Amino acid sequence: MAAKTGLVWHERYMWHITGIAAGAMPAGGFIEPGLFHIEEPTSKRRIRNLLEVSGLLDELALVRPRPATEEEVLRIHTPGYVERLKAMSRQGHGDAGERAPVGPDSWPIAQLSAGGCIAAADAIVNGEIRNAYALVRPPGHHAERDRGRGFCLLANTAIAIEHLRAVHGMKRIAVFDWDVHHGNGVQGLYFHDPDVLTMSVHEESNYPVNSGTLTETGEGAGRGGNINVPLPPGSGHDTYLAVVERVVLPALEKFRPEMVFVASGFDSCLYDPLGRQMAMAETYRLMTRALKDAAERLCGGRLLMTHEGGYSDFYAPYCGLAVMEELSGIKTEVGDPFGFHIHKPTQRLQPHQVVVIDMAAALVRNVP
Ligand SMILES: [Zn+2]
Repeated sequence: MAAKTGLVWHERYMWHITGIAAGAMPAGGFIEPGLFHIEEPTSKRRIRNLLEVSGLLDELALVRPRPATEEEVLRIHTPGYVERLKAMSRQGHGDAGERAPVGPDSWPIAQLSAGGCIAAADAIVNGEIRNAYALVRPPGHHAERDRGRGFCLLANTAIAIEHLRAVHGMKRIAVFDWDVHHGNGVQGLYFHDPDVLTMSVHEESNYPVNSGTLTETGEGAGRGGNINVPLPPGSGHDTYLAVVERVVLPALEKFRPEMVFVASGFDSCLYDPLGRQMAMAETYRLMTRALKDAAERLCGGRLLMTHEGGYSDFYAPYCGLAVMEELSGIKTEVGDPFGFHIHKPTQRLQPHQVVVIDMAAALVRNVP
């Protein structure tokens, strides 16, 4: 029997506290305190809950996370940043950089988040599982070498990539980020590295502002090894699939990775409060199918998705379930209760979106 799809989950991920806020803004001054910061556990819990209620959870291989060691974290982050993060975590509050709230024990929980990605990567490479989704928290794709950013504390994906290189001798790895925000962290960490291909589709200049443009394509030896697809707000189902078909798949074919990572944010969905895109569960399903097929064709099916954003408590679970159904090849009886939106004309590919995709597709020829 073919190896199962893995799921990384730990209750402790939900105990990372992001504080009192209004949306993503800390309370204070004229900002009335809300009950929660927008990056709180509910959407993640509800993804796991729907996996359980649908029955799919029983068919997955649960991957037990372990904390990333300090040595593993220091392959990416600076000692100064790690010390600051530990101190804030001990104090029980702080900001790790820019809009990256720290609560009690956020450091050990962040270690468990990065370590969950490492554990999943190990299990895939060792053949214990076929592919995996790491439903970890806090997220990682905005984190930089010396600071946290955008709710992210440690660069989970990059820490797992460096583990694969150091321990498994893996060399060429590709990362595709479909979170609605730019994957600035991984882009920056591998901007000069020809052996890690980084790609991000996102809403143009959402967060970080003015980051993730078409002109950021890598530097030095890493030239051509980064592709951004900054889509205009309002991009939907057909547009996202066109990005995968015309940019991501050809780039993967050219690059020939040994493993594919997806930085998976469900905040590109129609109902997300922090994004203005219109992807549906079906969009995530078909993107997953395409990436899984590519991974099967190019690198023995080695595909690891790491959880990033996604703030629609009621809709993110259906996106998550669709992704897990495709990864595992097991369809449940659960439909998308909100799926009627997929028939709207605004889900079709629009001329002003084609312009951006054309420009991104032209960058594929420079991929190393
Ligand atoms: Zn995001």
